[in-house]
Amino acid sequence: MVKLTCLAIRCLAFALCGMVAHAQEISPRMTRQKFQVAVHGGAGTIERSKMTPEREQEYRAGIENALRTGREILQANGSSLAAVEAAVRVLEDDPHFNAGKGSVFTSAGKIEMDAAIMDGKTLAAGAVAGIEHVRNPIVLARAVMEKSKHVMMIGAGAEEFAKGHGIDMVDPKYFFTQDRWDAFQKVKAAENAGADGSKKFMISDAERHGTVGAVARDSQGNLAAATSTGGTTNKLPGRVGDSPVIGAGTYADNATCAVSCTGDGEFFIRAGVAHQVSALMELRGMSLSEAAEHALAQAEKLGGTGGLIAVDKNGNIALPFNTSGMYRGYIREDGKFIIEIYK
Ligand code: ASP
Repeated sequence: MVKLTCLAIRCLAFALCGMVAHAQEISPRMTRQKFQVAVHGGAGTIERSKMTPEREQEYRAGIENALRTGREILQANGSSLAAVEAAVRVLEDDPHFNAGKGSVFTSAGKIEMDAAIMDGKTLAAGAVAGIEHVRNPIVLARAVMEKSKHVMMIGAGAEEFAKGHGIDMVDPKYFFTQDRWDAFQKVKAAENAGADGSKKFMISDAERHGTVGAVARDSQGNLAAATSTGGTTNKLPGRVGDSPVIGAGTYADNATCAVSCTGDGEFFIRAGVAHQVSALMELRGMSLSEAAEHALAQAEKLGGTGGLIAVDKNGNIALPFNTSGMYRGYIREDGKFIIEIYK
């Protein structure tokens, strides 16, 4: 009797295991999303030991809000373009990140922001640089793409264009955050003490970085990328980084992938990182992650640190970085948000 019961239990367990194994095997296929969105909030020396649990939670919440915003749009069959714009907008409004509110200061103590967006379906692109009064530079970048015959506009002309198109303008005070001001003061103090303020080692990378970006694939298979930044702390007035340079910090092509970069802009421009990922896939037949790592290595060879996020036409994603951390997030196949900071 005991033997029989044991056998029955074993049979039942075996049957259940079989069911679970089967369910596990097919569930990814059944739930495979037709869309994907990934976001970043900058790469740099992000040290676990210097991060309080509260602060980490705030960063994670920012990334999650951006992912959720992008996913809602994609779930409702919205375009990848709308999803990346909306996700970046959320991060621009979040003071923890170096874009929109929370941007870093130039050596003149002002805020000058850059942003770009690209549509992988049409290869249309819009970019802005040296923006001081537009609440969401990514919204202006999209307007440049869709409502002008240009790709890139800067400074006063770009802001006139923004006003003419009813885009939300704010007083520069809106962008101020005490943390960024304190980081800037640290650099200034070191400069006054005789050090070279243009060197990145003056303040920690965590204080320096924080650029934001998003890449997405929608259910129609269209790709898009968007990036927005305040640039680098203590940059010279008028300096423009890689974020708004199409092919350097931002790129999207339905035939290959969508890419948004973060890091030492000067090196990402010289290595043409974002376009290089696409070109390596197209011309060398590399996979997304191979191409992303290879392109990032080119910036590293020149001396640049940072990272990138990318999605390909099949919805695969790659998030390589060569710093100790990158605020990043994406949607796993089962629909769960994956948010990571450290290596
Ligand atoms: N890439 C940005 C720039 O150079 C900065 C960053 O991503 O941290 O403007």
